[in-house]
Amino acid sequence: MVPAQRLSVDRPPDPHVDSWYAASVAPVPTHAPLRGELKVDVCVLGAGITGLSSAIALAEQGLRVAVLEAQCVGWGASGRSGGQMIFGFAADQTKLERLVGPTAAKILWDCSLAGLDLVRQRAQRYAIDCELVHGHIHAALKPRQARELQHWQRHLEDVYGYSSLRFLERAQMQAAVASERYIAGLHDSNSGHLHPLKYTLGLARAAASLGVRIFEHSPIVEVRAGAPVGARTEQGLVLADSLVLAGNAHLSRLLPGIERKIMPVGTYIGATEVLGAERCRALLRDNAAVADINFVLDYFRCSADHRLLFGGRVSYSTLPPPRLTEAMRRRMLRVFPQLQDVRMQYAWGGLVAITMNRAPHFGRIGGNIYYAQGFSGHGIAAGGLAGQLIAEAVRGDAERFDVFSRLPHADFPGGRLLRTPALMLAMTWYRLRDLLP
Ligand SMILES: Cc1cc2nc3c(=O)[nH]c(=O)nc-3n(C[C@H](O)[C@H](O)[C@H](O)COP(=O)(O)OP(=O)(O)OC[C@H]3O[C@@H](n4cnc5c(N)ncnc54)[C@H](O)[C@@H]3O)c2cc1C
Repeated sequence: MVPAQRLSVDRPPDPHVDSWYAASVAPVPTHAPLRGELKVDVCVLGAGITGLSSAIALAEQGLRVAVLEAQCVGWGASGRSGGQMIFGFAADQTKLERLVGPTAAKILWDCSLAGLDLVRQRAQRYAIDCELVHGHIHAALKPRQARELQHWQRHLEDVYGYSSLRFLERAQMQAAVASERYIAGLHDSNSGHLHPLKYTLGLARAAASLGVRIFEHSPIVEVRAGAPVGARTEQGLVLADSLVLAGNAHLSRLLPGIERKIMPVGTYIGATEVLGAERCRALLRDNAAVADINFVLDYFRCSADHRLLFGGRVSYSTLPPPRLTEAMRRRMLRVFPQLQDVRMQYAWGGLVAITMNRAPHFGRIGGNIYYAQGFSGHGIAAGGLAGQLIAEAVRGDAERFDVFSRLPHADFPGGRLLRTPALMLAMTWYRLRDLLP
């Protein structure tokens, strides 16, 4: 049974973070908060990619669904991310093979590709204009990493038959990405990038068109396990056959049992002023998204209006670094010193939920409460997929969902107060490793 826990809600709802994403979307219809009692088949906590994806899949099956969002649609990571839609998971396939064995790892791999397809299908079926572009490059800064990428390619081709990868030698890499920092790359034509807030708002529109009722500014403050399961907000109550928890890094304090498996970490993005098509093409010839393979990584891409969006840095305390805009500009100049004259116009941050082993954390509580969290910075395709698998499980077909729920996950050591220092200590090792040749 889930212990009933109260979450104090002592501040007014936040608008979207002040990002280039928020500045580049047209005004969208708002959804009124929940007032009073409502009975549905499934109640979903959280209007990010995971929650909305499950709502769509459930409504497509003819179920009555209500989504309760503490702030507004896309307020969390889904509306702030780097927009890089990438195959696989934050834990790579070899690690997954070690965790669950080759047969289950193959199912996880197939699911990750299904997650990419789902983004494309949803964008098409529901006419979501999310500026989807194909092409993604993992970048190596040192020979050890170049060898890692080659191994990765061979493994994915040999074991999984994945054929859309192309290894880029130094000259090819530097022709594709105008930076001397990178010595090799792994290009994937099946991955890509999109405008994450437009995508998430589009999912909400799709869900609403299927009859899903969305309530914004409606934080769930108490969950009562049972049949029906109860989700209480300050002014309302939803009674449902099933509950989906898709609060990810923001779920804190509602269900401590699953909270211990994830750690919210701050990560940041800057958007330059408009550079123009030509200058963007000179930086990223084929308009691919790029992520290096350092532990504390840099990731970047050009936007549809020809800016460079540059992400990086982490904050384990979740407090934003001082003078964030300047900090992001300095980080960008390490990669592209030719942008010395360019102003960073926006800078913002968000929380990713990481797990100890970087594999996503799915599961069930009491038979009818489903959750998916801990995408570890890799949730655009995987979050959508999670929603789809939850919907299958609610319908009674939990085969694929259970492969994920069998992934073993350890608690972060140290409890709520000591988790951060313990994590910072562990991360220092990984940061040092980034510096090694
Ligand atoms: C800066 C940044 C960059 C990233 N870049 C990438 C990238 O390039 N590629 C990639 O694949 N992934 C990336 N990620 C990760 C990715 O964005 C997330 O994994 C994904 O969006 C998670 O979606 P979600 O729906 O599970 O969670 P979220 O989008 O965080 O949504 C959770 C929602 O639940 C709501 N909520 C929480 N508690 C309650 C409650 N009690 N009641 C009601 N509502 C509640 C929150 O308000 C929030 O809106 C990035 C994340 C960040 C922050």
